[in-house]
Amino acid sequence: MIKNITSKEAFGIIIARKPLGKFFKIDNVTGKYLGIDNTTGHAWVEEFEDIEECICWLNEEEYYGDINEKEICKQALDIYGKEAQICMVFEEMAELQKELCKYLRGSEIVGNITEEIADVEIMLEQMRLLFDIEKEVEEMKEYKLKRLEERLKEEEIQKCRVCGCTYYTPCEGGCYWVEEDLCSKCAEIIIEREE
Ligand SMILES: [Mg+2]
Ligand SMILES: [Zn+2]
Ligand SMILES: [Zn+2]
Repeated sequence: MIKNITSKEAFGIIIARKPLGKFFKIDNVTGKYLGIDNTTGHAWVEEFEDIEECICWLNEEEYYGDINEKEICKQALDIYGKEAQICMVFEEMAELQKELCKYLRGSEIVGNITEEIADVEIMLEQMRLLFDIEKEVEEMKEYKLKRLEERLKEEEIQKCRVCGCTYYTPCEGGCYWVEEDLCSKCAEIIIEREE
C-alpha cells in the first residue's frame, strides 16, 4: 500500500530508513511529487511532475503518460478510412457477442470479455467522431438512462407482498396479479388456508 505523508514524515523516513513501505508526498511549493520506496530500507527517492507517474514508479509499473483517446481515434479514421472502420465495428461487436455467448454457455474466462468490451468501446468512440455526434450521444444516453430509471421505479412498486415476486421474477410455474401487491400463487395459498 502506498501512503501519502507529510514533508516532515518524509524527512524522517529518509533519515531513519523506517518504517518500511512505499510513500509519497506533495511539495507545497513546487507542486511536485516525491516518491519514497523504502520497502527494502534503502529509502530510494525520486521526484515526479505527475502523481500518476509517481504511483507507477512506486508500483514498478510502466508509465505511459496521458494517452489522448480522441487523437488516436481520429488518426485511425484518417489512416484506415471510414469504410474500414465501420466494418471493424461489426467485427468487434461480433467478437464481444461470441465471448458473451461463451459466458452464457458456462465458460468462466472473463478476461476475453474485458478485451472485447475495450475493443468495442474504442470502435464506438471512432463512430462518434466519424459522425460528429459526441455531444448528441452523451445527451441521448442521459435521456435513455433517465427513462430506464423511471421504468425501474415502476417495476419496484409492483411486488407481491407475500413472496416478493415481480413481473420479471414470477413464482415457479408462473403467476399473475390478483391484487396490486398479491400474486395468484400466494392468493391460492391464502384461500386454501381460509377454507
Ligand atoms: Mg476484438
Ligand atoms: Zn406471491
Ligand atoms: Zn408470484
